[in-house]
Amino acid sequence: MSVNRSDRYDLIVVGSGFAGCMTALNFLETSQNARKHVRVALVEAGKNGERCGASRWTGAFLRLDRDLNFDPGWIREMTDVSDGQADLEYCKKLAKEARATAEYLQDHGVRFIRHAEENVLLEFETDQHFVMPEGGGWAMVQVLMEHLHRFDNCEVHWQTEARKLLRDPRGRVNGVTVRRSNGLLEDLYAPDVMLSCGGFEGNQEMLARHVGPTTDQLSLIAPGLRYNRGQGLKMALDVGCDTAGSFDGMHLELADARTSKPNAAIYGHSYGIVVDEQCERFYDEGKRQLFATFEGIAVELWRGHHNNKGFFITDATIMERFRPGWVYESTDREPFQADTIRELAMTLGVDPVQLHRTISEFNAACNDKPFDPMQLDGKATSGLRINKSNWATPLDNPPYYAFPVTAQLVFTFGGIKVNTDSQVLAPDGAPIPGLWATGELTGLYYNGNPPLTSVLRCLTFGRLAGTLLAQKTASH
Ligand SMILES: Cc1cc2nc3c(=O)[nH]c(=O)nc-3n(C[C@H](O)[C@H](O)[C@H](O)COP(=O)(O)OP(=O)(O)OC[C@H]3O[C@@H](n4cnc5c(N)ncnc54)[C@H](O)[C@@H]3O)c2cc1C
Repeated sequence: MSVNRSDRYDLIVVGSGFAGCMTALNFLETSQNARKHVRVALVEAGKNGERCGASRWTGAFLRLDRDLNFDPGWIREMTDVSDGQADLEYCKKLAKEARATAEYLQDHGVRFIRHAEENVLLEFETDQHFVMPEGGGWAMVQVLMEHLHRFDNCEVHWQTEARKLLRDPRGRVNGVTVRRSNGLLEDLYAPDVMLSCGGFEGNQEMLARHVGPTTDQLSLIAPGLRYNRGQGLKMALDVGCDTAGSFDGMHLELADARTSKPNAAIYGHSYGIVVDEQCERFYDEGKRQLFATFEGIAVELWRGHHNNKGFFITDATIMERFRPGWVYESTDREPFQADTIRELAMTLGVDPVQLHRTISEFNAACNDKPFDPMQLDGKATSGLRINKSNWATPLDNPPYYAFPVTAQLVFTFGGIKVNTDSQVLAPDGAPIPGLWATGELTGLYYNGNPPLTSVLRCLTFGRLAGTLLAQKTASH
């Protein structure tokens, strides 16, 4: 490498979310330890200081117990949900390495909150725990960026969009064409290029093409997602990559339909009911635990011809138990409240007779088993068109509460196929020389997303790939 040329680097990383920051930082740290002088370009479409992408908006719930051990049940969940399609080698590597990732972050100044969940039955084998960084994903990215800024051999190219991969005559990826904010193109060169630039949530054309009709009904759960336009996937497809994950799949969540606040998720469906604008229930809210159903109910509200408009409804018994708490507190709006179901319906602007009928029928169909939110309690309805399998408590203790909800897009599933070293693979299984990918733009989930693992995988495979790339560079 000619180190004198300003457009030459040892590594180009595209995207400055968890995956990109972890790749760049681990590459720099490992190289420094090996006393190898390197130059890194971190190419980012967003502006300096802007909350671009997903990582800067997520609360970053992590599927870890209080000792930062990864949920041992996740691999089985991945196998079941994906009907055996998930890449189990990748899953096993995440399970093995997640704790080291969390420890690495702690060592770098990220503070983790250990959350002991007392009200909601988690499907994790973490003794009712999960973990989140203090200050959420925004704080975690800032910590990583602070460490990156200590390296004067790391150049962050803000407002610079990667457009195309460059290759040498034999097909080895050796750089990226970028588009600067003045609209002009420039070529940057490096023997290795890491794509960490997110999914295609921000690209209506790709959503419609891959996921299908009515994707335009979905709003993004956070504004930073508009930057994730699938360019990484397009660039890799152009040089012949294979794909993985369900291309018609996405992680959606129910969010408060009244607010423009990002990430205003309403998680409470398991312990109440959700109706569409015709006041009909459309999903078994208690089929399984909250985190095993929060995506499915949102997908059904959007995809199941309900106009993506619904209402989560509950009564004082449930509301008093769960507030304050993360289940109903992500929104900045108070729920609608009324002393009768008819009044509630009038406030919501739905048919009072129909809402009353739905709730009366639901109440009459609940069995007499005791309610226990910490178990799949078998407190179910029978005889309804759609029954509720657990936690079916009659809504009979006023006041009654309702949140208007709509499904919002959190992330897409379809992406680039990689091996466990984060090398991008061609359809014949051979790595594409010089091309790497980490984070959400690598395909993993099929049919659904056993959650609280997306952040962990972005961080973990970023960490491992950064280290591996530095070792490879040092050996040359
Ligand atoms: C509101 C919200 C809540 C979530 N909650 C959780 C949770 O609790 N737990 C969990 O595990 N997961 C959660 N997720 C998912 C998780 O946050 C993401 O999967 C993860 O942060 C993705 O990280 P990433 O580094 O792959 O991508 P991103 O963080 O999206 O970073 C990609 C970066 O690439 C940039 N970029 C895009 N295209 C280009 C280009 N062509 N050139 C240059 N730069 C480009 C973008 O601007 C962006 O900065 C949530 C997501 C959201 C939005």
